[in-house]
Amino acid sequence: MSSFNVSDTGYYGSFGGAYIPEMLYPNVEELRANYLEIINSEDFQAEFKELLETYVGRPTPLYFANRLSEKYGAKIYLKREDLCHTGAHKVNNTIGQILLAKKLGKDKIIAETGAGQHGVATATVCALMGMDCTVYMGEVDMARQKPNVERMKILGAEVKAATSGSKTLKDATNEAMRHWINHPDDTHYIIGSVVGPHPYPDMVARFQSVISQEIKNQLSREEGRNSPDYVIACVGGGSNAAGAFYHFLENTEVKLVAAEAAGHGVATGKSAATTFIGKSGVLHGSKTLLMQTEDGQVVEPHSISAGLDYPGIGPMHAHLFDSKRASFYDITDEEAMIAGVELSKLEGIIPAIESAHAFAVLKKMDFNKQDVVVINLSGRGDKDLETYIKWGKY
Ligand SMILES: *Cc1c(COP(=O)(O)O)cnc(C)c1O
Repeated sequence: MSSFNVSDTGYYGSFGGAYIPEMLYPNVEELRANYLEIINSEDFQAEFKELLETYVGRPTPLYFANRLSEKYGAKIYLKREDLCHTGAHKVNNTIGQILLAKKLGKDKIIAETGAGQHGVATATVCALMGMDCTVYMGEVDMARQKPNVERMKILGAEVKAATSGSKTLKDATNEAMRHWINHPDDTHYIIGSVVGPHPYPDMVARFQSVISQEIKNQLSREEGRNSPDYVIACVGGGSNAAGAFYHFLENTEVKLVAAEAAGHGVATGKSAATTFIGKSGVLHGSKTLLMQTEDGQVVEPHSISAGLDYPGIGPMHAHLFDSKRASFYDITDEEAMIAGVELSKLEGIIPAIESAHAFAVLKKMDFNKQDVVVINLSGRGDKDLETYIKWGKY
């Protein structure tokens, strides 16, 4: 049977794997050899569940959106990841990885961050666990995302500027890798999405899969069935979508829908819609789809939402696209902003602009009245207030 899950060797179809420098092999291999046994142990699961409940606030509600349902002619539910501690789904993964790091005997954590959201989630759980935390961030990004830099510092993390290259995410990633190579024994590197070398995409998907596990339980109570007709989520690297899709991957009656950031439009050269304009290549240690020039140079992405501003997509999603298991929609900055304001006015929920991309898909789909649709509301919009204000059309 073909599977949409990871293979034993770390592949999703032809995507995935671990394309890493020799020097990094021992670190990644230690993780690969141990992650499943640790994650599946009763001990680990008990601690993970306890923290998700008492610290993150899980289970997050599955909310029936009455007015939105009326407008689009379907039964629309929102999975409220925006109500997680720190305001988005990212913390599900950072809690899982920090528990795993402790079991591996590590007492230091490093991470890289672009917009700072993954850095804040990492700094948060390091404070929670009393772990030493270093976050690498491009110098340019540090200037653009000052409030998140200060948040990380308040939480006790050290923020180190990456000053090479374009001084953005890719340079921060290089610095973090270099650090990890030099400190393999006491340090764990937390990656924030379903990207990077195997086993990261699978590990992160497993931690985020709590989202679709809860959707199943909650739908059973609400609708008397444990699977919806549609699950819709935005995709940057793809971790919130992976979590929302996970327990439905092999159930092909559930239609999986992914929203990608098209920025100014896929044909403008200012977008982050990887599945529309990307080609197969190697990025951050895995074979996947990425936006690149003819000779394989990574193209700088653009999206109004910092969390979707990424030139690639995780290997699971590359395979979901390639195999047509999921349908992908390209959503422009403007369409996302309109959808974000619409959700605010119809339901009293201001979404993160990343999440607003998932809501913009509603206008492009045709539903039957009885269709059960779940939209993963990955984060809240507080962090995006300035962008809403600058856009101004509300
Ligand atoms: C980071 C982020 C995303 C994008 O990351 P994925 O790994 O694709 O989920 C989406 N929504 C919010 C609110 C985020 O903070």
